[in-house]
Amino acid sequence: MKMPIFLPVYHPLKKIVSIEDIKKSGAEGIITNAYFIYSNEELKKRVLEKGIKKAFGFEGFVMTDSGAFQQLSLGQKVTTNEEIVKFQDKLGADVITIFDEMVFSDESDSQISKKMDANIERYKEAEKIARTNTAFVLSTAGNEKMMEKYAKIAEKLNPKYLAFGNFVPPFTMNHNIAGLMRILKKGIEILKPDYPVHLFGSGHPDEMGFFVYIGINVFDSANYAIYAEKGIIFTEKGTKKIDRINFNKCECDICRNNSIKKMQKDFTLTAKHNLNFCINEIGIIREKLKENSLKEYLLKKSKLNDHLKKAYDEL
Ligand SMILES: [Zn+2]
Repeated sequence: MKMPIFLPVYHPLKKIVSIEDIKKSGAEGIITNAYFIYSNEELKKRVLEKGIKKAFGFEGFVMTDSGAFQQLSLGQKVTTNEEIVKFQDKLGADVITIFDEMVFSDESDSQISKKMDANIERYKEAEKIARTNTAFVLSTAGNEKMMEKYAKIAEKLNPKYLAFGNFVPPFTMNHNIAGLMRILKKGIEILKPDYPVHLFGSGHPDEMGFFVYIGINVFDSANYAIYAEKGIIFTEKGTKKIDRINFNKCECDICRNNSIKKMQKDFTLTAKHNLNFCINEIGIIREKLKENSLKEYLLKKSKLNDHLKKAYDEL
């Protein structure tokens, strides 16, 4: 697995961007929700029969998420950890995820401890029953003391893959990228990981480079499609309302073959461009890493807005 990597979220039942478009973008991996597969009989049968890569028509890296978040949104737990881990293990993905307890920013130390202790038990259970590599999920929201405690415990578990869970929403709601970087750095300093470190739900093209610099190397996001639905396009100059631009300097196949006017009328075109843009950004970051010039690149990025300026000061 080449890193850093951006994994577009692929929803097998709601295809704004098809697997063909994902392949065309140059994406080397995808992440998909095992719970959606689990809860659709037809899809479940097909994926179990063929294996996830054949069923989706995607040869690259495939990670499955357990759908803990989606089940929480439904207000009920449909699966246990054991069930969803066993199910994911049968799909033929490269990395699977425990049924993690999500931590929220208003929770106390003892509430967080209870949830993280459960995540550790579930990880141990998954390690016993699954042949596939399992992602250990570390989730403490903004609580630094808990980050310190559980990064130390996680280090002893010696995971092969680590995912920081549910850190992105509370911080990015206020565009507090610097604050998010600060807490992640605390964990990374303790863990000193030599394995993939994934920041769940992060994949904004303006921000990925900053996270790479502090040691994150796997991103996933559905924002390319969610932003497009809201009429937002990723550009070299940051995110813009597509209705307010007349020109976009982009060489991707979508922008070469469609006018801005046409893209303004069809958000799926913007979604495809946004995806191309994220993949291209990862390519740039890889180049800058090779040239040892990521920090200079981020200095330029930091001029886009105040949030990124603060993020730069955190490097
Ligand atoms: Zn484009």
